Amino acid sequence: MSKVAVITGGAQGIGKGIAKRLGKDGFNIVISDMNIELAQQTVEEFKNMDIHAIAVEGDVSIQEDQFALVSEAVEQFGSVDVFINNAGIDQVQAVEDITPENLEKIFNVNVFGTTYGIQAAAKQMKKQEKGGKIINACSIAGKTAFNLLGAYSATKFAVHGLTQVAAKELAQFKITVNAYCPGIVGTGMWDRIDAGMVEYMGLKPGEAWQQNVDNIPLQRSQTPEDVAKLVSYLASEDSDYMTGQAINIDGGIELH
Ligand code: NAD
Repeated sequence: MSKVAVITGGAQGIGKGIAKRLGKDGFNIVISDMNIELAQQTVEEFKNMDIHAIAVEGDVSIQEDQFALVSEAVEQFGSVDVFINNAGIDQVQAVEDITPENLEKIFNVNVFGTTYGIQAAAKQMKKQEKGGKIINACSIAGKTAFNLLGAYSATKFAVHGLTQVAAKELAQFKITVNAYCPGIVGTGMWDRIDAGMVEYMGLKPGEAWQQNVDNIPLQRSQTPEDVAKLVSYLASEDSDYMTGQAINIDGGIELH
């Protein structure tokens, strides 16, 4: 029977790229997203590529939604072998301008959501007694500082820490927990980051994106497919002996 991969925030961007790659790798795919219309469109698109996928509506920041997502995946496809905590949101502001509402919103999705996803996946994987792979979206901003991304960076440092602790706790069940740390990926998220940065920095639209891309040693911006290649490895048996790692996939921007 095919293995099953669940991808939160899989309707578009990096999550969609991961879902497509894992579908081509032979996984049955469960795409979860708040934007259910777009998730359903993505599933339709995948049908033409012979990818077996379903869409499930859910908000990662609601703990019950994450457990319901796992139940739905098991009901439709029989198991959960890989769970990818990909959904995340961005914010652009100087540290001095961060409000309590900003912090609450971004921690709810990026940190609470990832925690609930790990919990729901681990519970099911332990029941299955054949291990599993939990993979979290971190960022190069989860390892080092980038101006105007303070709140976002704090959430990704938290995801980095959660990845390490969950890896240690779940290793005895042969459940591995790793994270991918992308750099500058051309998605809706970077459109919003650019808009926020140009406002702060007095630049023209697109200039903040371009400045960041110009600093990439491999001299091009990143695509969701670039990220998906690493996640394909982390979801495969080839990575069975790796756990607790947060791996940069960023064209050489960060070297630690
Ligand atoms: P995106 O904004 O293009 O797509 C995110 C998807 O997540 C959307 O479909 C959205 O509807 C969904 N989503 C948002 N909040 C949700 C919630 N509460 N519950 C369920 N779904 C929700 O983002 P992206 O660029 O594809 O980023 C994906 C992940 O990769 C994020 O965790 C992000 O922080 C991380 N990341 C992105 C970049 C980048 O350059 N784009 C770099 C490093 C890390």
